[in-house]
Amino acid sequence: MFYKTDVLIIGSGIAGLYSAIKISEFADVVLVTKKEKSESNTNYAQGGIASVLDPNDTFANHIKDTLIAGAGLCDEKSVEILVKEGPGKINELIDIGTGFTLKDGKLDLVREGGHSFNRIVHAKDLTGKEVERALIEKASKSPNIRIIENTLAIDLITEHNVTGLKHLPISSRHCWGAYVLENESGHVIKVTSRATILATGGIGQVYYHTTNPPIATGDGFAMAYRAGAKMGNMEFIQFHPTSFYDPNPKSKSSHSFLISEAVRGFGGILRNSSGEAFMEKYDVRKELAPRDIVARAIDTEMKKRGDEYVFLDVTHKHKAEIIDHFPHIHANCLNKGIDITNEFIPVVPAAHYICGGVCVDEFSRSSLTGLYAVGEVSMTGVHGANRLASNSLLEALVFAQRAADDIKKNIKDFPVCHEEIPDWDDSGTLSADEKVLITHGVRELKQLMSDYVGIVRSNLRLEFASRRINLLYHEIEEFYKITKVFDSLIELRNLVTSGYLIVKSALLRKESRGLHYTLDYPTPDDSKTPEDTLIQNTYQKS
Ligand SMILES: Cc1cc2nc3c(=O)[nH]c(=O)nc-3n(C[C@H](O)[C@H](O)[C@H](O)COP(=O)(O)OP(=O)(O)OC[C@H]3O[C@@H](n4cnc5c(N)ncnc54)[C@H](O)[C@@H]3O)c2cc1C
Repeated sequence: MFYKTDVLIIGSGIAGLYSAIKISEFADVVLVTKKEKSESNTNYAQGGIASVLDPNDTFANHIKDTLIAGAGLCDEKSVEILVKEGPGKINELIDIGTGFTLKDGKLDLVREGGHSFNRIVHAKDLTGKEVERALIEKASKSPNIRIIENTLAIDLITEHNVTGLKHLPISSRHCWGAYVLENESGHVIKVTSRATILATGGIGQVYYHTTNPPIATGDGFAMAYRAGAKMGNMEFIQFHPTSFYDPNPKSKSSHSFLISEAVRGFGGILRNSSGEAFMEKYDVRKELAPRDIVARAIDTEMKKRGDEYVFLDVTHKHKAEIIDHFPHIHANCLNKGIDITNEFIPVVPAAHYICGGVCVDEFSRSSLTGLYAVGEVSMTGVHGANRLASNSLLEALVFAQRAADDIKKNIKDFPVCHEEIPDWDDSGTLSADEKVLITHGVRELKQLMSDYVGIVRSNLRLEFASRRINLLYHEIEEFYKITKVFDSLIELRNLVTSGYLIVKSALLRKESRGLHYTLDYPTPDDSKTPEDTLIQNTYQKS
């Protein structure tokens, strides 16, 4: 069985759905997504989308704030595109029925850390859910979009799958679609396309604590790398300083809910296991220091004391005020057995967002002809070494539009090779009866990434991690070759490759900058231009 389409899109978050809506105006789209269509990082985004919508705000302000956050590594042209094309995208979301929160009949624009102006549009504190709802509704009405749920992309199809073309160099590769696994039947289907968009989101599940849902297993990064696409800046992982730590192992979920920055803004105090307030040892701004500083301080306290979490304390505030300001957090914690009005909240930093990924140009084109990457899986250069809050949903919209524009212009010229592409061949493989290898592998990877490749790094820790990941990689590849594929095996293979890429990028960067902090090079190396570092820190499979 196979599908043939103009454009294959992998992923149904904001990037995949918005790309599909735009492309359906001129071509047929098959969109595959590995779970139900709404399950994505997008669905969990709370804060909102940044854009210049107040007449007193300026593009120059938003550009400047983004460049400051990016710590010298942003691509200035991409930032300008992001900021200038942003307002039009917000208006389009409104046109398709997204219900953003209003105040006195106008968009309620709020401010977040690092922004010099009120420019965050939001739908209460469930912005992602509302955007995802509106996009799914719109996409479902288009006769040109076929959404196939519970279907997991395994690998991209390029020359290396086609007899007679395997010998061609990576530099001349095209992408002609993907092999996908139908979860229910276990069948692997070939989907061929003229253009393919990776919109597979993030990587949080590589770590023990993450705010990302279970779908965030880094599949897109690993598929692109295996296919030979250029990758970069994978070391820049944003850790949210305060996610809820569930002390009860029985009710532990695979991802943690956020205890938002606003709780520290409200007067929340961070305390270690002895009840001591510790932030003043690290920064004069104490709890209100930037995210990366707070995350590092918490990490240091935990590592020094051998603790698994610290506490956030709001018990000195009035009960009614706490409940009024934080109804969701109060209810979620109560659900886990913690009454935040009279108990400390156990918190831990959690992997939240990755700034690097598949290198793309200003039209979201990867280094492989016909392969585009949009959203969190891509590296457009807008985030540099650190993402400004609420710029990621905006990036997905702006660069999805640009991918659609480019595909519209060039689709007729993309070469097709449908007939020569072989079906999936799993002859000689066996059904797995060793699933313990998967659960153990996932646990081992998360533990070593959290211990050695977390918030504070060093050459020694990275080299330890590198050796262990190599071993895991070879074991999983061996198992993969002899086994009929299934979802958790594919995901573990991708998690291990993603971990490998993060370590590789971290070892390449001989400085501390933005989200990457290493004890061996504790300061930024300003002797290199951003262009130099970009060349040094991007790579592809040889
Ligand atoms: C808790 C939380 C809060 C956040 N808050 C904000 C915020 O306020 N503002 C902001 O700008 N950003 C925020 N972010 C970041 C933002 O939500 C993400 O960067 C953004 O949603 C990514 O969108 P995406 O479409 O690229 O990926 P996702 O929304 O993650 O979508 C990826 C899709 O790909 C599918 N997929 C993955 N692998 C495969 C595969 N192999 N085969 C088939 N399908 C696959 C997934 O199932 C999913 O449908 C937040 C993130 C989190 C986790």
